[in-house]
Amino acid sequence: MVPRHVAIVGGGIAGLTTALSVHEQAAQAGISISCTLIEADSRWGGKIATHRVGELVIEAGPDSFLSQKPWALDLCAKLGLTDRLMNTNDFQKRTFVFSRGRLRELPEGLVVIVPTKLGPFLRSGLLSWRGVARMAMDLMLPAKRSTGDESLASFFRRRLGREAFERVIEPLMAGIYAGDADEISLRATFPRFLELERQYGSLIRGMLAGRKTAKMTDRTMFVTLRGGLGEMVDALVLRLKEAGTTLLDARQVIALRVRSGRLGTWTYDLVFEGGSALSADAVVLATPAFVSAELLRPLSQTAAEMLGAIPYVSTATISLAYETGSLQGDVSGFGFVVPKAEGGDLLAATWTSSKWPHRAPASQTLIRCYVGGKGRENLLQDDDETLVRRVREELHRITGITGEPAYVEVNRWERAMPQYTLGHLERLELIRSSLSRYQGLALTGAGYRGIGIPDCIRDGSETAAAVIRYLAEPRA
Ligand SMILES: Cc1cc2nc3c(=O)[nH]c(=O)nc-3n(C[C@H](O)[C@H](O)[C@H](O)COP(=O)(O)OP(=O)(O)OC[C@H]3O[C@@H](n4cnc5c(N)ncnc54)[C@H](O)[C@@H]3O)c2cc1C
Repeated sequence: MVPRHVAIVGGGIAGLTTALSVHEQAAQAGISISCTLIEADSRWGGKIATHRVGELVIEAGPDSFLSQKPWALDLCAKLGLTDRLMNTNDFQKRTFVFSRGRLRELPEGLVVIVPTKLGPFLRSGLLSWRGVARMAMDLMLPAKRSTGDESLASFFRRRLGREAFERVIEPLMAGIYAGDADEISLRATFPRFLELERQYGSLIRGMLAGRKTAKMTDRTMFVTLRGGLGEMVDALVLRLKEAGTTLLDARQVIALRVRSGRLGTWTYDLVFEGGSALSADAVVLATPAFVSAELLRPLSQTAAEMLGAIPYVSTATISLAYETGSLQGDVSGFGFVVPKAEGGDLLAATWTSSKWPHRAPASQTLIRCYVGGKGRENLLQDDDETLVRRVREELHRITGITGEPAYVEVNRWERAMPQYTLGHLERLELIRSSLSRYQGLALTGAGYRGIGIPDCIRDGSETAAAVIRYLAEPRA
């Protein structure tokens, strides 16, 4: 029997995982497939990009992933990378918020982004006593009855009060989504919080109950790989080669065409820059939503419009490496976040070599600053030199640190962070229904059902399973 051909467009973590799962699922289903993975860049991994500079390990994009969501850990185990996993350095486990003119430590009792213990908050000075008292009202306030979509900002202001939202939740959330909490859908990003409100009548009670039943683990909240997350990409590419995947890098797909094929199925043609084409029985687009929108426009105007309506914001990371002796100031802890209410250029800064000591030799201190995001993208208009100067001035203003970095690296991420704005889930449903006649065509990636690496991995595997189910269906 002729193997069925699956083509996947986009070689980020979602596309790589989809390709691996396609092989696994096909073997399990006992069907013969061939698989091609296509990437526009000359490098695999998409947003995951690790640079090694001497003994420094610099993450241009993501630097770690959440361990509570098991899919990235499971993938690492499958790839033989478990021994390479690194916890955060618990001796340094302190995160700060820049609030009312100085850095203040985030008190204990914070679960994900939600405060659960009131005492430490009262003592921390991060919130006024009124702010803490308002937070405590979460224990009494009734759950909201309406089932409509609600923004993250509205939900947290309603449950925990304006001050806790602005001083704690908003900056932590911005560190994940680089977004505007007034626009981001709670249901599409943190549906669990909504469930907790419904089930326990209180967010704090719900989080505490969840904590009691949480499994003991030897992993810290965030984990990474010793040599950077690029190790995961390298291992995936190797595995895909071993499985016989055709890996096409530096090949941009510019069009997708569809023909009705044998027995009521479709044949998809992917057209490359330069005019050559490749045919497949199934296609997975693991590209950003705005790229998929243009590829799908000839198939469905509605899908294209809905995909185009998923906004993306731009960010940049600026890594600064100092000879430790030349840096004046305190860089203990994991780093700090800056609430929007404080203004300024920085979203957050990580004291990378304190949080992950293996990322720099003992003689060097590595810092990574995070800028841009919704409402703060103007800064990205500056050239690298200006950007670095502004970031260093801001670091000095906030932390007092001074010194001349020995190495600086700016990594810009244009239209990189998808925003799950209000109505996101309805848009996904419209996209699904308007493409439903094109069986064997699927979408995956950070733009849809989870932006973090573990969610992209889960979604890639589920997408592969759906594609293989379709290919395994008996044809009349
Ligand atoms: C600065 C930054 C920091 C982050 N930090 C974290 C973190 O610490 N932890 C975490 O879990 N997540 C983090 N994220 C989010 C996470 O990294 C991304 O959401 C995830 O890696 C996206 O994976 P993806 O495969 O969906 O998309 P991408 O990685 O964007 O991959 C899509 C690929 O498609 C390719 N492509 C596009 N158009 C075409 C075309 N026409 N033809 C062929 N190929 C094409 C692109 O070149 C790209 O390689 C961060 C993101 C950024 C930008």
